[in-house]
Amino acid sequence: MSKGDNSMEFTAEVNRLLQILTHSIYSNKEVFLRELISNASDACDKLRYISISQSDVAIEELKIKITIDNHKKTISISDNGIGMSRDEMIENLGTIARSGTKTFIENISKDDDASSQIGQFGIGFYSAFIVSKDVTVLSKKFDSDEAHLWSSDGTGTYNIQQVTDKNITGTQITIKLAKDAHDFSNTQLVKDTIKKYSDNINFPIYLAENSTSDGEQINTVGAIWAKPKADISADQYQEHYNLLSRNFDQPLSTIHYKAEGRFEYDVLLYIPTTRPFDLFDQQRKAKLKLYVKRVLISDDTDIIPPYLRFISGVIDCADIPLTVSREILQENQVVLSIKKAIKNRIISTLNKLAKDDNEKFNIFWEAFGPVIKEGIYEDYEKKDDLLKLIRFKSTGADDGYRSLDQYIDGMKENQKSIYFITAEDYQSAKANPLLEGYTAREVEIIILIDPIDSFWTATGIKYNDTELKHVSHGTEELADIPITQKAKKKKINAKITDTDLKKLVAEMTRVLGDHVSEVKINSSLIDSPVCISIGESGYDKTMQKILQERQGMSLSKPVLEINPNHSVVIKLSDMFKNKKTKKIKTTAHILLDYALIMDGEKPVNIEDFGKNMQDLIGKAD
Ligand code: ADP
Repeated sequence: MSKGDNSMEFTAEVNRLLQILTHSIYSNKEVFLRELISNASDACDKLRYISISQSDVAIEELKIKITIDNHKKTISISDNGIGMSRDEMIENLGTIARSGTKTFIENISKDDDASSQIGQFGIGFYSAFIVSKDVTVLSKKFDSDEAHLWSSDGTGTYNIQQVTDKNITGTQITIKLAKDAHDFSNTQLVKDTIKKYSDNINFPIYLAENSTSDGEQINTVGAIWAKPKADISADQYQEHYNLLSRNFDQPLSTIHYKAEGRFEYDVLLYIPTTRPFDLFDQQRKAKLKLYVKRVLISDDTDIIPPYLRFISGVIDCADIPLTVSREILQENQVVLSIKKAIKNRIISTLNKLAKDDNEKFNIFWEAFGPVIKEGIYEDYEKKDDLLKLIRFKSTGADDGYRSLDQYIDGMKENQKSIYFITAEDYQSAKANPLLEGYTAREVEIIILIDPIDSFWTATGIKYNDTELKHVSHGTEELADIPITQKAKKKKINAKITDTDLKKLVAEMTRVLGDHVSEVKINSSLIDSPVCISIGESGYDKTMQKILQERQGMSLSKPVLEINPNHSVVIKLSDMFKNKKTKKIKTTAHILLDYALIMDGEKPVNIEDFGKNMQDLIGKAD
């Protein structure tokens, strides 16, 4: 029955995955059924859409059939959906397109124990190899007469043969069960597994003990999103969420409503609890299925903006024409209106969660905060609502998170702006001398440590008319806020005259030459002699480095600020007066290096730093 023979190699990524799957002792083997039934359901959805949008395509009742053979120890999953051509088999079953699976493989190479996480990822078709080393796929594309048989033993290659059999429709995956998976030819276990995972599948699933019988329908078919909320249990929501998102946590929050107004549609969206592995994958989109009267018309829309890409869910709208082509779907007026409404609803739900359940919201923030921050510069219209959601650590709260509203409530008299510092971690942020002037006035400083923070704060942002300012840009405003008694005691009064100070600044600028863009006075420093501040570009270090990488922008030289009231600076001025030129040079360089280190950077030149240190301390003899 077969003609032609073709043996092909899997890509390296697939090989790696198959190796992991066929060698892992993975206890939760049943996930393979969930994955294959979900693929069969997608195939039926695709054919239903085609049959409705193209009048010349007639179809039978779409269904999924699972057949088990307890003697031969096989299980097969078949559907009468869209089917695959030879090329599609090569493309779909020989490479890995799914970003989640890619991330899984990347993760697993770094950490071999990750095989225990197989079930968390939803690795799709390849999960068949969890229970077998012998998998065949027989498939015929709905509009073709040619069927093909794909087969593989999971070791490096697969084979595709053309098959001539008029009775083939859709796709049939047959698995010869490995010894430790023989249980999956047992009716009760398979039945329980289908019930567990597949009650939300939109097509009937039959279970038969031999290929000639029709078998018994196992699931109840119904669109969960069209049912009243009161009729849906938490478990049903959870199952539906797991099926859609291919994540296996619980939804943190469920948004389920019927929109009634200019357009009518059902919405069922889920906010996850944990961060999906591919959250920062460039190609990741929200997992949203768009239905028109229960017919899936697209699972790849831009309805949900990228900064809400962790959402998964379903929208079912009767007002979108079924025949709308996928290309112009994004411009359809109904879709545009849904897009806006959905976004508003998600953001208002998050704001409500933040208000009503602080603990739950913090879980959300830990997982998705950095993604929400992208929205601040991507979605100007929603900027204020998103800023309201922002949580951060600050000098005012060591543990827990603070919000901008809380920050504003705690502002000091005469405090003009909201102050923040960006850094790689809390420790280095707190050690930065730039904070001293603020701490001396008990002014709270927001500590931002996500790389994305350098982006959204670089756009001159305001919250409720109050500007957010980097600590580097706020020192002049501090003069109006009184210093605490404690700090006053520490602060010594300047003994250097203005003229001497000017001369010292000029001399330091000269000796430091190209290593600095400017030397400046900063009277708000308390304990430290010097610090580095943000230069004229206004961009912090992280932002500058990103711009350098992406746009070839040159890094601006550091601005060195000196504390005129510090004993070291006073000494330096004395050296200048006593014409100790060499010592001034050595000390100035050491001070610059010290300031760079306190700013989380390296000294200008490690070797020089070492030499200068020795010079300053004096040779041992
Ligand atoms: P995903 O389903 O996330 O795309 P899979 O590895 O499970 O990833 O499947 C890869 C592709 O193979 C699918 O996108 C689909 O095009 C095709 N495919 C898998 N199973 C079937 C099926 N039963 N019928 C038709 N096509 C299928």
